[in-house]
Amino acid sequence: MLIIQKFGGSSLASLEKLRRAAELCLDARREGHDIVAVVSAMGDTTDDLLELAHRISPSPPPRELDALLSTGEQQSAALLAIMLESLGQSARSFTGWQAGLFTCGGHGDARIALMLPARLRSALNAGHIAVVSGFQGLDGAGDISTLGRGGSDTTAVALAAAMEADRCMIYTDVDGICTADPRLVENADFLPAIDYTDMLRLARAGSQVLHSRSVELAMEYGVEIRLLSSLTGAGGSVVKALPEEERPAFAGVTRNIHDSTVTLVGRAVDAGTLSALVLMLAKEGVMVLGGSVEEGAVSVKVAPEQLLPTLLLIHAHIFG
Ligand code: ASP
Ligand code: MG
Repeated sequence: MLIIQKFGGSSLASLEKLRRAAELCLDARREGHDIVAVVSAMGDTTDDLLELAHRISPSPPPRELDALLSTGEQQSAALLAIMLESLGQSARSFTGWQAGLFTCGGHGDARIALMLPARLRSALNAGHIAVVSGFQGLDGAGDISTLGRGGSDTTAVALAAAMEADRCMIYTDVDGICTADPRLVENADFLPAIDYTDMLRLARAGSQVLHSRSVELAMEYGVEIRLLSSLTGAGGSVVKALPEEERPAFAGVTRNIHDSTVTLVGRAVDAGTLSALVLMLAKEGVMVLGGSVEEGAVSVKVAPEQLLPTLLLIHAHIFG
């Protein structure tokens, strides 16, 4: 079996966590599987690099920002390979371009144009664990490009599709997908499975569990994504095509701090849901500044200081 295991920044934030990630790779390797690990930058590395660049200039050249930010993932890839080797497992790290990821669409938010993972195949055939730097590729001009914040998820799904992997596991710091971010909403319900469309709407509306483009790709190529905690190894959620009757009426609610909106997603969500939410919020003293409806999702815009209370109120109203 070929397994893609992606580790987010929070799962690599310290050497102990890096070791834990290596052990997860080794567990799967011991079961006889081929492993391609995809890594994000450790902890807050990307934010720290961005801040450094902005201390020099308010608008750093996008080409140089990409050259800078891509180094975070390269550090993690090399460190994870070193960790694996120290545990007795041969491993090879690869940058995005060494892994054959080519992009189009400019800097900072590039799209994947082509995947040529031949070197990864050879590494696997030679018995190595291949460790790939997520979030990066080479554009048509031969320059380094990055895939947008959170883009390592997309690297993992693209590799799963291109290499026809049997599993695509995304390790993070939550136990799986919930009806709301469990760090904000205490009693958010865990969802063992969620349909691609619901996950995509949540990701586009600001949920940061998965990069929205990774969900688009997964849907297009039929890649099932398993999202699970690297710390507890607990349960996990699967993102896949769910039969209509298994899709819940309401799947989740998320907030977007950039445009100050809260979005409710689900099969049963329609214009009537929006009116009901606006009424409920008015009764609770929250003024809705705008609203929008699309198939399966409604959003309300509120003042920034009302964002969290609105999220909590809508979650309580819909999910109890
Ligand atoms: N390191 C990048 C970020 O922080 C990409 C990723 O984590 O997926 O956005
Ligand atoms: Mg992420």
